[in-house]
Amino acid sequence: MDLIRSIPKVDKVLAEPECQRLLTAHPRPVVLAAVRQVLDGLRAAARTGRLQAVDLEPAAVSAGIERRLAAGETFSLRRVVNGTGVVLHTNLGRSSLAPKLREHLAEIAFGYSTLEYDVVTGERGTRYAHVEELICRLTGAEAALVVNNNAAAVLLVLAAMAAGREVIVSRGELVEIGGSFRIPDVMKQGGALLREVGTTNRTHLRDYRDAITEQTAMLLKVHCSNFAVVGFTAEVTIAELAALGRECGVPVVADIGSGNLMDWQGIPGMNEPKVQEYLAAGADLVTFSGDKLLGGPQAGIIAGRAAVVNRLKEHQLLRALRVDKLTLAALEGTLRLYRDERQAWAEIPTLRLLRLTAEELKKKGQQALRRLRRQLPDSMTVELVPGVSQVGGGALPLAELPTWLVAVRSADCSARELEEGLRRQPVPVIGRIARGDFLLDLRTVADGDWPAVADGLRAVAA
Ligand SMILES: *Cc1c(COP(=O)(O)O)cnc(C)c1O
Repeated sequence: MDLIRSIPKVDKVLAEPECQRLLTAHPRPVVLAAVRQVLDGLRAAARTGRLQAVDLEPAAVSAGIERRLAAGETFSLRRVVNGTGVVLHTNLGRSSLAPKLREHLAEIAFGYSTLEYDVVTGERGTRYAHVEELICRLTGAEAALVVNNNAAAVLLVLAAMAAGREVIVSRGELVEIGGSFRIPDVMKQGGALLREVGTTNRTHLRDYRDAITEQTAMLLKVHCSNFAVVGFTAEVTIAELAALGRECGVPVVADIGSGNLMDWQGIPGMNEPKVQEYLAAGADLVTFSGDKLLGGPQAGIIAGRAAVVNRLKEHQLLRALRVDKLTLAALEGTLRLYRDERQAWAEIPTLRLLRLTAEELKKKGQQALRRLRRQLPDSMTVELVPGVSQVGGGALPLAELPTWLVAVRSADCSARELEEGLRRQPVPVIGRIARGDFLLDLRTVADGDWPAVADGLRAVAA
């Protein structure tokens, strides 16, 4: 307990030569905060009897301060190497934007822009105008609106069109996406009453028809993005539902999740619905994410009939869900690439990565091995092994994409130690362990990532 009285005061620590040196390299308030944190740590250690006299030596104290300062130098939100093979990894930021947009995004971010300014009339414009026409052209919608994410899109639609009234949904479509988006809960938040019809595996058109009353505000179809029901199943198509809605005068809305605009012929399991097809089949509104298969920024897109979209544009909630200029710049840029399908496949990383063939990935892998072998210590070996990557991000749960992976083995550390050591690097490298090997999936590791991988492996070996 005596040791606690020997813990130096802040001023004394600051006066040490070592601390004076740190003050020439870092701003004073930053050093001061680090000193306080270190002294707090020493006091906490003293209280639990873990403090030792060596911990109070000036060199030990200043080393602690230097570690705090170094930790403060790295951003919390920072780049990682995605070696998981999961292309739409929600925890790692889902879609990467097309490199072609870099210059334009920087221009919008670091200066003024036409965000809500109409250069023709010289008057106030609307931020949604920058993408509405493009969305309409690409999907066949009459009007469109963009909000913060697809969850917000569904919330806005429910609040504007169904508050205090009933929304009919199939029991088989009451999905949960990523833990926090659950259809029954979003209904409540939007003030709508959930009217479930059918059963988990089978819902028929007559189930919807029998449930329609004066109280019905909407028929909602939700895409089962992250699971599949197989076996004895029946689902009502969007065309059948749209026809019923027209017959009964009830709007039909589809939450299709991914926002796919493309045909994925030749890739087994890639049967995600297309926005255009849902609208052509008669849905009044379709909502989808900007950062799943669309390959753009986080956003929620609502596309459909002008009369319905215009009601949403006037709703109070829109102000709370609105997107900023960076989102709009990234979304406009991504959508512009879709004007030419060949360009979209080539330039949008999400589309490109999902279409990489096992053959192309093996070639990438052979190049990576040559580079790594030159740079790794003798205690480490790398080799290529075949496997499968996943789409992720709550999309296409059944799609299995054949891939190649780099298996890393070390004479000195276990796969678990490699995995942990790599994710704690300044540029974290995220991989996985299978059958005792540490693996990096070539599908999601970019060519420019290999120096960071080599640095990380060398640091773990050291
Ligand atoms: C992903 C998904 C959502 C949530 O979208 P976010 O853009 O992540 O908010 C909602 N509904 C479905 C069907 C989805 O797949």
